Amino acid sequence: MPNMSLKKNEMPSQPADVRNKNFSEVALGYSEEQAVDEAQRCLHCKHKPCVGGCPVQIDIPAFIERVAARDFEGAYRIISESSSLPAVCGRVCPQETQCEAKCVRGIKGEPVAIGRLERFVADYHNSHAANETVRPVSNGHKVAVIGSGPSGLTCAGDLAKKGYEVTVFEALHTAGGVLVYGIPEFRLPKVIVQKEIEGLKALGVKVETNMVIGKVLSVDDLFDMGFEAVFIGSGAGLPRFMNIPGENAKGVYSANEFLTRVNLMKSFREDCDTPIMHAQNVAVVGGGNVAMDAARCAKRLGAKNVYIVYRRSEKELPARAEEVEHAKEEGIIFKLLNNPVKILTDERDFVSGIECVEMTLGEPDESGRRRPVEKEGSNFVLDVDCVIMAIGTSPNPLIKSTTKGLETEKWGGIIVNEHGKTSREGVYAGGDAVTGAATVILAMGAGKTAAYAIDESLKNK
Ligand code: FAD
Ligand code: SF4
Repeated sequence: MPNMSLKKNEMPSQPADVRNKNFSEVALGYSEEQAVDEAQRCLHCKHKPCVGGCPVQIDIPAFIERVAARDFEGAYRIISESSSLPAVCGRVCPQETQCEAKCVRGIKGEPVAIGRLERFVADYHNSHAANETVRPVSNGHKVAVIGSGPSGLTCAGDLAKKGYEVTVFEALHTAGGVLVYGIPEFRLPKVIVQKEIEGLKALGVKVETNMVIGKVLSVDDLFDMGFEAVFIGSGAGLPRFMNIPGENAKGVYSANEFLTRVNLMKSFREDCDTPIMHAQNVAVVGGGNVAMDAARCAKRLGAKNVYIVYRRSEKELPARAEEVEHAKEEGIIFKLLNNPVKILTDERDFVSGIECVEMTLGEPDESGRRRPVEKEGSNFVLDVDCVIMAIGTSPNPLIKSTTKGLETEKWGGIIVNEHGKTSREGVYAGGDAVTGAATVILAMGAGKTAAYAIDESLKNK
């Protein structure tokens, strides 16, 4: 008999007023008992609607059935047939708009907690399984991967398993892409990403850090070095700004810079020499996951008041519902239907406030969301000493500008066909570098697609 409880098993987590002062993981994960109880809520639907909602098509009912039978390693084997980063995806995937949105238990009550179960299974495996990676025999083909985010890591892993000699070239000094420099420790502990990268190295993947392709080496150089195919997974790390007065003042950060200082450079630690502003009052402009992460980091750095300034209403917030909920619990103040028009500065050019205007929502725009319209004469000032811009990013033009024959969209996205092939022979691309800022699972899916296409083109050569 399935467990017919209308509610998911709750996720144990640190209390809000404790966690908003530390960088340890917020959610603590299910116990074995909670996982088995939750797995028993699955109805094992014949048509598996949940699988249709998963971008990498994990056989969800099959792995949940293994959890219910306490065969956690069996569950892991099923997940890892389709996903190469389950401990990451179980933590950061927007399940509420993907698999869980399609779960029939969600029609009357809450869906099965698929993401929490995925996380449980991956964590169980990571803490119980012996490292038995067998290095595949080389097939003699060499492939270069640019960027070590989820798209690059997935592409590298899939090819290495087939015997390719893969080298990942990463611009930063640490591999992992947004998983290490963007998403904070309290949502995704870095040991998890590190473990995935160690797993790839055990398969024979070489990771070369501090290698900015387009500066140190070009794509042409990579072909000259004997690589037969190149995958570009360089992400979308170029921050956008609003072009409002005062944006160059001291105390204005892009969210990327702010989060890199906190997550990658560990500026929150006393023994770290990377400087960061410990502001008292912070405005974060934007409403996505990046904005929530920046706001929650600013709070943990000791800010008294942290404001999310977003020009639409709560309904349109692009961040995951869970992140918004967590941010509110931690004391982040939401200034919705507000838009900044000017950053105010003092005589030393430090931020002294942010002037905003109130908005209302008009007719839907080309994105389908209602267009925000300024309310005339509604300007007001928020007293802040730091402003973090989290209004989006685009792909860095460096690789495009140094690679002959690589076609891109006007906004910078690399143009690919359905197999991840670019306009340049032998060059493939995927992830945020192609789509613009998107999600971990979509980047992984793109890495997989390209790995398959590279294998198809090289295996018979
Ligand atoms: P990235 O992860 O951006 O990796 C690209 C890598 O390429 C980087 O390491 C970069 O240094 C490197 N690189 C760039 N240029 C070069 C070069 N010229 N030479 C060599 N290396 C280069 N998604 C979710 O699904 N859930 C979330 O909760 C979530 N939260 C997020 C929070 C933040 C703060 C951010 C910024 C993003 C978040 N995302 C989330 C989005 C998700 O992380 C990205 O969609 C995903 O990481 C994209 O993967 P990628 O492999 O395309 O690129
Ligand atoms: Fe189980 Fe929900 Fe998938 Fe049905 S839709 S198989 S109940 S997880």
